[in-house]
Amino acid sequence: MASKIWLDDTLVDPADAVVSVFDHGLLYGDGVFEGIRVYNGRVFELAAHLKRLYESARAIRLTIRMDAAQLTDAVEQTIRANGITDGYIRLVVTRGTGTLGLGPFGCKESRLIIIADRIQLYPEEMYVHGMKVISASTTRNHPLALPPQIKSLNYLNNILAKIEALDSGVMEAIMYNHEGYVAEATGDNVFIVRNGVIYTPPISAGALDGITRRVVIDLARRQGITVVERNLTRFELYVCDEFFLTGTAAEVIGIVDIDGRAIGDGRPGPITCLLREKFFAYAHGKEA
Ligand code: PMP
Repeated sequence: MASKIWLDDTLVDPADAVVSVFDHGLLYGDGVFEGIRVYNGRVFELAAHLKRLYESARAIRLTIRMDAAQLTDAVEQTIRANGITDGYIRLVVTRGTGTLGLGPFGCKESRLIIIADRIQLYPEEMYVHGMKVISASTTRNHPLALPPQIKSLNYLNNILAKIEALDSGVMEAIMYNHEGYVAEATGDNVFIVRNGVIYTPPISAGALDGITRRVVIDLARRQGITVVERNLTRFELYVCDEFFLTGTAAEVIGIVDIDGRAIGDGRPGPITCLLREKFFAYAHGKEA
């Protein structure tokens, strides 16, 4: 449990870390956020996360109360105050307190929340033996309706798919877009391997431009593995050699079953394991 929370311009006790019931972040999901890892006392890819946060805010015409340098300082202070060397940071910017109407511009100042805590998304044995997923029947938000690059507080589309996963006794669901192509998982990006080549859907298919996705693509290319961004079909997921997901909380996790079809030999494949290892080394500041 976090001992101090950053709220707006200062650190406060958790009991004092409260926002109004009239905050449009609560009333409408009007706001943006980031999830960021701390490894060995270093904030992982902070510049990339802050860039995505400021761009998400700009896209919805939300002003963040401080600049990136001040925000970096606030993040560092929050980590120190909670004694975190390996953990997770949740950075949230809400539209702020307004009236019951939708209009965002009547809201007073945006609010800034930084929570530093520990995290384990999936049990360790899932990383060793791989994870099962299902195909969600919930279609991913149309990318022209809500640009997938905006990491907003509106996660209902993903939550509907997550409910389908949990109802089926698995922890993740693959979401397809309006054309039937693979978009992403509810909180992770999708990768498959076929004949030694890695494939991942383009952002335009309706995927968040994942920071882990970018790092893993780079690590794979540095290993001499070809990575292709193109639309993927459900059939291609069913017949691939390897399948893995990437995300800040999940890191790199192998998928060994989708909709009852075993992937490869039913264990995380060699490229998945290599990239997981390289990712761990890179994240912990050892050369990959
Ligand atoms: N897609 C969605 C919908 C996400 O919420 C996330 C973050 N959990 C990702 C993909 C992965 O992005 P990142 O690697 O930046 O965490």
